[in-house]
Amino acid sequence: MTRAGSNNRYDAIVVGGGSIGVPSAYYLARRGLKVLVIERRAAVGQGDNKAAIGGVRATHSDPAKILLCTRTLDVVRTWKEEQGDEIGWKPGGYCFPVYSEALEKTLCGLFPLQRKYGLENGWVDADGIAELIPGINRDGLRGGTYSPNDGQLSPLLLPVVLIRHATRMGVELRVKERVTGYLEQSGRIQGVVTDQGTYYAPRVILAAGVDAAEHGKLLGIDIPVIPDSHEAGIAAPVEPFLRPLVVDMRPGPEGRTANFYFGQNHEGQIIFCYTPKELFVGTNRESLSEFLPILASRMISLVPRLRNLLVRRVWRGCYPMTPDGVPIIGNVDEIEGLTLAVGMCGQGFMLGIGVGQEVAHLAVEGTYALPPEAWKPIRYGRDFAAGKKEALK
Ligand SMILES: Cc1cc2nc3c(=O)[nH]c(=O)nc-3n(C[C@H](O)[C@H](O)[C@H](O)COP(=O)(O)OP(=O)(O)OC[C@H]3O[C@@H](n4cnc5c(N)ncnc54)[C@H](O)[C@@H]3O)c2cc1C
Repeated sequence: MTRAGSNNRYDAIVVGGGSIGVPSAYYLARRGLKVLVIERRAAVGQGDNKAAIGGVRATHSDPAKILLCTRTLDVVRTWKEEQGDEIGWKPGGYCFPVYSEALEKTLCGLFPLQRKYGLENGWVDADGIAELIPGINRDGLRGGTYSPNDGQLSPLLLPVVLIRHATRMGVELRVKERVTGYLEQSGRIQGVVTDQGTYYAPRVILAAGVDAAEHGKLLGIDIPVIPDSHEAGIAAPVEPFLRPLVVDMRPGPEGRTANFYFGQNHEGQIIFCYTPKELFVGTNRESLSEFLPILASRMISLVPRLRNLLVRRVWRGCYPMTPDGVPIIGNVDEIEGLTLAVGMCGQGFMLGIGVGQEVAHLAVEGTYALPPEAWKPIRYGRDFAAGKKEALK
């Protein structure tokens, strides 16, 4: 598959063709670089990318995620119009219904930061929430927050579309090929070794998702990413009735779930997920028998009319988690030419395009495009323990 005369030499090699690797290759190619993507699975987007339910929001509580996801939204909103491809974009925002004063305070406390970065998130009263989420249980409903500019996107379509555009720009994709080692000399990256060959480049971007820590061992650096298992499911399509993606932040009465979220995608299917109360470490992808009963009970108690849904399938995937819950995006001082884009936690799909743009900037310019208040908390080599304490405040 290597182009004739290329001598296995590239300007940049991207390890991993997932939520992050594919947009990174696309934006590197847009800067004129000759790029190789190496993916161990049979196609792009088949890792944890395809486990995502497709929520895309800029309404976060930290500047990096706000800015990176804003970039993603700016691109996907107009993609179909400008490029002609279906990527499953469904506008409609995110809605957090609120049943307690404490949560109201927490969510409203984020508005000043979010507005500083241009987000239009606001408080909506209970009647407004009942319009946004038809049939919602109004018992104790105080209102909620609504961010009209967020939305949903298809994790099955986006990587396929992006890699098609990337390959048209000259990106080479090697699938069913596993990176098994890295070439390094005098503190500079030289390329990668796979189970099928050796490829040279002065820049390597590591976008290996939950496998990042294993790659860290090959590189001789510590990359603190662990797989945190999450389940999701999808129902048969119904008439469109639900515009926003809904996040119920209340811990579940069953004592097993921290929150749960669901939305109706561009094809009318209800897609859903919950966050287990405790971190569930491991890469086992078999569905648990408890997932659907717990999820169904939570969904039906929030919106009783959902009891008639016909569930089509459930699945389990992983969040690539970091100790402080914040991604690791940055160049590595110890190894010149190495850029990390890993540890995306539960937001790698929505971060993808924004991170891809940042990775291209980092790899080509050697610096962040993000402002310091955004890049400092995501850089490699930060104090993860301090970040964790901060996150718990
Ligand atoms: C149930 C569930 C729901 C989710 N919902 C959302 C959501 O709504 N919105 C959102 O933004 N995020 C969501 N996420 C999180 C999102 O899926 C992840 O954060 C994201 O996919 C991580 O992207 P990544 O590129 O780091 O990893 P991946 O997409 O897994 O890509 C990494 C790739 O690297 C490849 N790779 C690894 N090692 C090698 C090697 N040695 N050689 C070659 N290739 C290699 C893998 O095969 C893989 O394809 C959800 C996750 C789960 C589990």
